[in-house]
Amino acid sequence: MGQIEKNLQSIQERIALAADRRGSTPDSVQLVAAAKGVPPDQIREAIAAGIETIGENRVQEASWKYEEIGDAVHWHMLGHLQTNKVGKALDIFEMVQSVDSYRLAEELSKRATKKGREVDILIEVNTSGEPSKFGIDADDAIPLLKGISDLRGIRIRGLMTLGLFTEDAELVRPCFVRLRGLRDRIEEAGMGRMELLSMGMSMDFEVAIEEGSNMVRIGTALFGSRTR
Ligand SMILES: *Cc1c(COP(=O)(O)O)cnc(C)c1O
Repeated sequence: MGQIEKNLQSIQERIALAADRRGSTPDSVQLVAAAKGVPPDQIREAIAAGIETIGENRVQEASWKYEEIGDAVHWHMLGHLQTNKVGKALDIFEMVQSVDSYRLAEELSKRATKKGREVDILIEVNTSGEPSKFGIDADDAIPLLKGISDLRGIRIRGLMTLGLFTEDAELVRPCFVRLRGLRDRIEEAGMGRMELLSMGMSMDFEVAIEEGSNMVRIGTALFGSRTR
């Protein structure tokens, strides 16, 4: 068994245990393989081991890897997306997890409609208060959702967050609780279902799952440390 397959097995076991702690089954958590900086042969190895969704952070990098790997897997955009790259992004990604402005949602809507398709989106929320992060402030998420709810061509599927960047997963827990709380407020306000809560990375996915995550984005624990 190759290293990536071993890593995947161990991640799946940890997902199952964390899901069990909140009383759900492992299939309630989708796994996105965060593949920035990972070469296509390693991505293929992950796909052979059972990975079905690839996450990328840059349109340019995703573009040549998509050419090599193809669309037998799902492709998600995880990184900050510039409006001038939206057209290209829509050729690759079926979901953009990092929508954090009206302008970006509007451009996605315009371009997707022109291509005669719909694109799934998540609203990226800054739950850590760290100023350098992308993502909209939690207080601004509801007004943004109201503003974009009528746009054609985009399907709002849920929320995404990165959480505090720290080795101590317990310090990240409040960020995940915040995102879940926001999801509940949005749904209680009758603003539509926020089906997906995309939270949890290599260092903190178990805590994220305990707090309600149903989509984890994992890079390092699957592929090993990257050089950038
Ligand atoms: C890189 C990245 C991940 C995965 O991070 P790891 O710590 O390598 O698991 C998840 N989400 C986003 C947005 C990322 O950029």
